[in-house]
This record gives sequence, structure tokens and C-alpha cells, in this order.
Amino acid sequence: MMISNSLERQYQLYAEEYEKKAVEVLRSGQYILGNEVREFEREFADYIGAKYCVGLASGLDALWISFRLLGIGAGDEVIVSANAYIACVMGITINGATPVFVEPDEYDNIDAEKIEAAITPDTKAILAVHLYGQACDMSRIMELASKYSLKVVEDCAQSHGNHWMGKTVGTFGDIGCFSFYPSKGCGAFGDGGCIVTDDEELAKKFRIFRNYGSEKRYHNQMVGSNSRLDEIQAGLLRIKLSHLDELTEERRRIAQRYMTEIKNPFIRLPQVRKEADSSWHQFVVHCSRRDMLRQYLADRDIGTLIHYPIPPHLSEAYRYLGKKEGDYPIAEKFANEVLSLPIYNGMTEEEQGKVIRAVNGFA
Ligand SMILES: *Cc1c(COP(=O)(O)O)cnc(C)c1O
Repeated sequence: MMISNSLERQYQLYAEEYEKKAVEVLRSGQYILGNEVREFEREFADYIGAKYCVGLASGLDALWISFRLLGIGAGDEVIVSANAYIACVMGITINGATPVFVEPDEYDNIDAEKIEAAITPDTKAILAVHLYGQACDMSRIMELASKYSLKVVEDCAQSHGNHWMGKTVGTFGDIGCFSFYPSKGCGAFGDGGCIVTDDEELAKKFRIFRNYGSEKRYHNQMVGSNSRLDEIQAGLLRIKLSHLDELTEERRRIAQRYMTEIKNPFIRLPQVRKEADSSWHQFVVHCSRRDMLRQYLADRDIGTLIHYPIPPHLSEAYRYLGKKEGDYPIAEKFANEVLSLPIYNGMTEEEQGKVIRAVNGFA
């Protein structure tokens, strides 16, 4: 049996509750923007500690609609880490704005000390991506944002409920963006996303935008989109959210065991800043012979993933930016050495023991 990230296990943990809710929603006759979405938005805002939450169709929608509603588009620059997920960059470029890449640090997040040098008169915002479940240096980012009057959008798609100095991510900047893609920490059983904000006017704009720009049916105030979290996903997410702390606790236990039992001079373990915590969305090790390690583990029935093998500036989609290999050497090096070991809710001690033995046996 292959050991690799499984979504079926986390479903099994609370299967009865999910099934009951799905049937309840099916029988309610209300499938879009009803009670489940309303309740989930309230509960999620409370969980994060934000005033407002607006459910959307995906994490990517949360990002691009954020920049759109902040008025950031053609001619504007947005700072983002060079090792971010491609969706982060698309959230910027869909609106015609230009991503300005900044190298990551040893915590796999944007190197906040390198941001200031990337700021130009066209810079309008910083997209703070909390990668793999760990917060970026939000103290420094907020300090720079205030110094240069920049907007801050947080991409919390991998870090639901994580903290920087005790404060929940998503509550530092103007807007916090979340994805509920099934593999994410607070994952749905299909697509979904949301934003959180303390700005009442902005929250209202998101509500209008996601529904063809209308608050009142057939009265369209702006050109919007169709980006609604649906009732079934919202209902299932309410159950997931009610167990999220337990699920995160379990991931932390699994990560802790990896941290203490993986001992291999060829492998660098992930590092967590003292001001941050991690929900371990991914357990990412660095290994200069990553492809060999990956094959070695695959030969032993252990499935790993790479987050991410091609940095956005070298992807085909962004050829038009005119970047080349060597422009962001740290991000490029990371793309060649990161490997995500199996970590999933419902992973047994025996399965993890097998992974640890295999990883320690690689030479
Ligand atoms: C998953 C993810 C997204 C996109 O979310 P979708 O719901 O898949 O659109 C954006 N940013 C990051 C960091 C992600 O991990």
C-alpha cells in the first residue's frame, strides 16, 4: 500500500456528520446563498477574529477580486514572494497589475528584509503569502506598508488559524484570502474560498461583486462576477471548522514526530520562527538530491509531492514578464530541493514510522 497524502481519511474521521449535513442541505431546497453560507461566514469570521467574512467560489477568486476591489490594476506593482504558488501571482496579473518578486528566506516565506529594496513609486500592495502553514514576518511587512502607504493582502490559503505573535493571520492586512480547496487545512469537498476583513464597506463590495454586482436581484450596481460559495460546501465547512483545532493538533503531533525522528545529514528539516506557529499544511524538507530522494521513497511505496517545481517567474504563463533563469536564485534553488513528505489527518503511527525509516535510510 502506497503511503501518500489521503483526503479520504479526514472524511472518514467525521463521515456521519458530513453525510447528515449534505442530506440536510439537499432536502432544504436552498442551494445558493442561504442559511449555511450566512452561518459559516459568521463562524469563520469569529474563528479568525475578523469582523466580516464573505464566502467565494475559490481562493484564486478571493485574491483577484481583492486586488480588483482595492483598485489595483494595470500600471501598478504588487510585491510577492518568488517561491509562491502560481495562483498568488495570477491573483495579481488577472487585473493587469505586475508582480514584483522577492526572494524567500530560510523559513520558505518572503524575506521581509528584502522587500524595501523592491518598492518603487508604482508599488501599491504587498501580497503576504503564508506558505506551508507558517506566517510571514507580519511585523516587518506591516511596518513597511505603513511607511510607504501600501495595501496588504494576506494569502492564508495554506494557513487557516495560524498566528504571528499570537495574532491570527488574515487579520493584519486590509484583506485575508482563504481557499477551501479539499487539501487545504480547512478544506471543503469541492471548490470554495473566502475573504475576511474588518472594513465594512469593503465586505459589502465583495458581497455585491460575487453576485453579478447586485445586492438586490436585477439591480446591478457594478460589473461583478459569479463567485459564490455554495450551500453544500458551506454546510460541510461548518462541520470541518468545528473540528479544525483537533485536526490541526493532529498534524502538529505528526510534524513533531518528524522533527524529532528524522535524522539524515542530507535532509534539512523545516524551520519555524519563534514568533510563528505552523499548522503544517505541508511538511517540506530541503534536499540537494531531491529527485533521488523522491525516487528512493517512491521505490519504497511512499508518495511525495513538490511544492513547487517551477517558480512562477519561469513558468510558461509568465514568459511575458521577461524573466530568466538566475533572476531569483534562492527561489530557483528551493524549486530544485523542496520535497513534501506525507502528512495527513488519519495518518497512522505505523505509516509514519515507515516514512521515517525510509527517509533516514536514504544515503
Ligand atoms: C490553494 C492556493 C490558492 C488558490 O486556491 P484555490 O481555491 O485552489 O483557487 C492560492 N494561494 C495559495 C498559497 C494556495 O495554496
